Amino acid sequence: ISRVRGAPRPRLLLQGQRRSGKSSISSVVFHKMPPTETLFLESTTRIQKEPVNSFMDFQVWDFPGQIDYNDGTFDLEALFSDTGALIYVIDAQDEYLEALTRLHQTIEAIQRHNPAINIEVFIHKVDGLSDDFKLDTQRDIVQRTTDELADMGLDGVHINYHLTSIYDHSIFEAFSKVIQKLLPELGTLENLLNGLVSNCRIEKAFLFDVLSKIYVATDSSPVDVQSYEICSDYIDVVLDMTEIYGYDRGDSEVNPVEETKSSVGSSEDWSLPDQSSVMKLQNGMVLFLREINKFLALICIMRKESFEKRGLIDYNVQVFQQALEKVFELHR
Ligand code: GDP
Repeated sequence: ISRVRGAPRPRLLLQGQRRSGKSSISSVVFHKMPPTETLFLESTTRIQKEPVNSFMDFQVWDFPGQIDYNDGTFDLEALFSDTGALIYVIDAQDEYLEALTRLHQTIEAIQRHNPAINIEVFIHKVDGLSDDFKLDTQRDIVQRTTDELADMGLDGVHINYHLTSIYDHSIFEAFSKVIQKLLPELGTLENLLNGLVSNCRIEKAFLFDVLSKIYVATDSSPVDVQSYEICSDYIDVVLDMTEIYGYDRGDSEVNPVEETKSSVGSSEDWSLPDQSSVMKLQNGMVLFLREINKFLALICIMRKESFEKRGLIDYNVQVFQQALEKVFELHR
């Protein structure tokens, strides 16, 4: 496995048994594949590196579940050194004891090579399960893992669990949480969003990575699934309309070969015409979408009355946009 030239970029490793859903997840989240088409995907049998076309410059490495860490064929140092998070996918509709054994071996290897990696377990394909069964499965997996790690002398390891399915928004939400933990700028982004929300009397604001529909930050009020879903659906609507009738977004298909070019904050990203879009909903709320740069969009939900002060909103969004530009410049 060769290291990418230039600055190390956070890498997401996607691992799990065969047929657990790894290729489906990366196709649905990063390549806009409709979930039903994943039935025809080939299973992952080797390490695949996929270019991800999003603001984060993330690499998703689809990583088969059958790797033996002790046979010496893999350079684990290189594999784990730039990795930000390991996402371990478990098929909740299948027998998972074998998958858990693999997970525990992987955690053990990570502790040896790079304990800074975040460990994220996706309890996946939960669309077929009742709510009770979902929770029981999660409890069982957490319990077995905690016990096993304690036996291995690794009780201090922190693991995050997510219930996911490609048939609803849960997979996008789980990715949001995984990615947010890897953003050094997150605290600043949240503060900026909090400022915007209180200045403009906005109910909820999300900063979305448009192409993956992962939100990279939101203000600190709690996220309810409904507002998240409506914002994410709104992106789809706007994107579809833009694709058909909109202006030319330029090179929206980033050339995967151009890996060393940072996609955040290069000057041309910020000079695009400001696209915005508004939709009034039946319940008296307003959805407001504003393109921030080539990859990011701000989406706000607010009451109709708050939206009447449109000038105030435009001004504050502009200030927000400039602040964001500075944040990314600093971190570059
Ligand atoms: P991989 O070998 O880990 O890459 O697994 P695949 O991505 O090839 O997925 C194996 C099968 O699981 C495919 O038939 C997918 O359609 C199916 N699958 C993936 N994700 C989900 C999910 O969230 N729910 C359900 N019901 N099936 C899924």
